[in-house]
Amino acid sequence: MNSLAQNHRRAGQTLLIDADDTLWENNLYFERAIADFISYLDHRVHTPFEVREHLNRCEHATISAHGYGLVSFRRSLLDCFEQLSGTPANEQQRDRILGFAEAICDHPIELLPRVRETLHELATRHRLILVTKGDLAEQTGKLERSGLAAHFTAVEVLPEKHHEAYLALASNHRCDAGHTWMIGNSPRSDINPALSAGLHAVFIPHDFTWVLEHETLNPAPPGQHLLELPAFPGLLHHF
Ligand SMILES: [Mg+2]
Repeated sequence: MNSLAQNHRRAGQTLLIDADDTLWENNLYFERAIADFISYLDHRVHTPFEVREHLNRCEHATISAHGYGLVSFRRSLLDCFEQLSGTPANEQQRDRILGFAEAICDHPIELLPRVRETLHELATRHRLILVTKGDLAEQTGKLERSGLAAHFTAVEVLPEKHHEAYLALASNHRCDAGHTWMIGNSPRSDINPALSAGLHAVFIPHDFTWVLEHETLNPAPPGQHLLELPAFPGLLHHF
């Protein structure tokens, strides 16, 4: 990893910035909902760990078929319940299970520390583009509620953040790869595919990164940079 210890600020960059668990808390709410679901299920045979493993498999299958978002999460909880209990959920069980997912929609946006001030300052020196994945209405709704929308010149809500998506994004926004950075908490969706598309990257780990986003961080190819920062305000030392 290139540490770039000289700590100088670069001018006039394009910063592609992830949203969930980079700007605001997100996966934490899913983890709470899943914990509630597991204790409700109170399975006689499977341990909580095994239920969680099975839910991960259900989520993988649901997302492949229906994409990211709350609709998929609800469906995954129901699939997991029905597969492990061996019977379809009755109306009362269904309401209860969907209630765990509803708790996530109602949560106000909780920004990570000093995100607002940091974005405000970065926007005076750089072009900021929000790059997230998931359901368009859910993600744009969160951005509106966050009060951060004015800092971004563009917003991209992608079905998946892979190599091709970054190539298309860089082309659509006329990004010069040598001056473009993807910033986020997910090795799988933010860092590795951005590096493979020729961009620089900034990894800002989050303790509650979703298990489906875990992946080994690739090194930056020659001529590209990968920074790792402990928290979002650290960007102001580099940009
Ligand atoms: Mg994220």
